[in-house]
Amino acid sequence: MKLVFLGPPGAGKGTLAVRAVETLKAPHISTGNIFREAIAAMSPLGVKVKGIIDSGGLVDDDTTIALVRERLERGDAAAGYILDGFPRTIPQADALAGFSTLDRVVNFDIPDAGVLERLSGRRVCRKCGRNWHATFNPPPADGVCDKCGGEAYVRDDDRPQAVQKRLDVYRAQTEPLIGYYRAQGLLVDIDARPGVDEILSAFKAALGL
Ligand code: ADP
Ligand code: ZN
Repeated sequence: MKLVFLGPPGAGKGTLAVRAVETLKAPHISTGNIFREAIAAMSPLGVKVKGIIDSGGLVDDDTTIALVRERLERGDAAAGYILDGFPRTIPQADALAGFSTLDRVVNFDIPDAGVLERLSGRRVCRKCGRNWHATFNPPPADGVCDKCGGEAYVRDDDRPQAVQKRLDVYRAQTEPLIGYYRAQGLLVDIDARPGVDEILSAFKAALGL
């Protein structure tokens, strides 16, 4: 199944994706994770995007589209995937339609207050992208990821100034995709306010899994 996860920063797309891959047996492709890996590796891509990402802005469409197109050409994505964080603009969605055909777009619905609460406590594994929350779902006490041994850290773009900018960018550039995909009959709305287990059940029911 070829899926896009859509929703504001902090809606829990990445957290649910990590759980959903167990059911779907398809890769979780997060553009945010790919960019953060590039930054950690100090590759040319990482050097180019670091400042943009830390400030809460969007990487340019051409760079992002080329990255995703290449990733989807890999064999593991042939039968299905979860795209998390892409597309984020209408031009990205138009480009995606040119190289892949989606089955569904899952829209994670959550008010701004919920987003701020989640982002302010978020911890992320530097190596595998696994997510925790300082209060709701704490990382291991030693700060070491139980899955891969990476470090649980606070993302630079989860600091307050960058969070506000990301929400503004989401409203202006990404939210229009809800109408775009609804018009194509692809949209599935999920209430992103409850805990992960409840969201996972709603997700499976909505997709008939
Ligand atoms: P979030 O937790 O806000 O959903 P992500 O991990 O998906 O964040 O992305 C982090 C940052 O990476 C974004 O704020 C943006 O700078 C960049 N980014 C990720 N995906 C895209 C995209 N499709 N287009 C442009 N920039 C992107
Ligand atoms: Zn990890």
